[in-house]
Amino acid sequence: MWTVLITPKSYYEVRKEMEPLLKGCRVIYNETGRTLTEEEMCRLASGADGILVGVDPVSRKVIEGAPRLKAVSKYGVGVDNIDREALEERGIPLATTPGANNVSVAELTVGLLFVLARNLYAAAAEVKAGGWSRVRGTELTGKTLGLVGCGGIGREVARRARGLLMKVCFYDPYFQDERFIREHELERLSLEELLAVSDFVSLHVPLTGETRKLMNRERLGLMKPGAYLINTARGELVDEEALHWALSSGRLAGAACDVFSKEPPGDHPLLRLDNFLLTPHVGAHTHEAVTRMAKAATENLLRLLAASGGSGPR
Ligand code: NAD
Repeated sequence: MWTVLITPKSYYEVRKEMEPLLKGCRVIYNETGRTLTEEEMCRLASGADGILVGVDPVSRKVIEGAPRLKAVSKYGVGVDNIDREALEERGIPLATTPGANNVSVAELTVGLLFVLARNLYAAAAEVKAGGWSRVRGTELTGKTLGLVGCGGIGREVARRARGLLMKVCFYDPYFQDERFIREHELERLSLEELLAVSDFVSLHVPLTGETRKLMNRERLGLMKPGAYLINTARGELVDEEALHWALSSGRLAGAACDVFSKEPPGDHPLLRLDNFLLTPHVGAHTHEAVTRMAKAATENLLRLLAASGGSGPR
């Protein structure tokens, strides 16, 4: 019988639907309602054959402390919380669920475009506080959206933004689907060009050594004055101190993020700015995406465990 550790908080909400798939497995769930610490991961993973993981740390320490571990299945695509080198050294395979949450994250991104363009966040808060001042917004039609990263999510955002009659350019040296680019009339630019022409810049790249603090003070300074930044990818892509400078100095009109370098962020100075908005990493948190991800990640885990040999569920 396989012992599997399942950590994503939202998986726990749909676990009943997944039970038939996991028949015969001994399942350890994350029942804390929050992301697990490294210490908790070490303890819970120590006897596991497989881990189905959200954003909780699968560090070298966790991997080395789990002698039976044969497979890791990521609930999503961002694998920056997983020490892939340590997995490779043990020959432990890792699977992800590409595409399962593309639409949900893209829809959130489009929502944030509207929120920023019409200052909806501050406007609604002001009415609740007894005010009624009408801040002038901007239309999205005809504006330029710059996508940094044109992968699964970036492409879904591009399609929707074109539907809103926005111009869409992108920076992604690895994206080669010329047909998609032609069909959706996207413009390929260098990062510097994109930052200079975009009214809205939206980040859709993975967190890697190359992309960490991609949006530093220099690059934020290259953005069009009065432009907006959206980050639904990973908090560490943005130098938060530099973003504070860009927003408080009025260099940028606003920023909306779904991710932060530390989640939850605690008492961060950015949260005191009216033109900064942070949602609690809800990009993939829709019923549809959660169900798709849970099913795909469970199937991946069981497939990898079956391929590893050993005694499976009966
Ligand atoms: P993806 O792998 O399909 O696409 C990423 C794209 O980024 C690829 O096209 C790749 O070529 C490009 N890229 C990689 N390095 C680059 C670089 N240095 N410069 C420019 N482009 C680069 O991934 P995706 O599904 O589109 O997801 C993007 C990111 O969104 C994920 O890695 C994850 O961190 C994040 N995400 C967040 C949520 C959320 O809940 N907010 C949910 C899912 C994913």
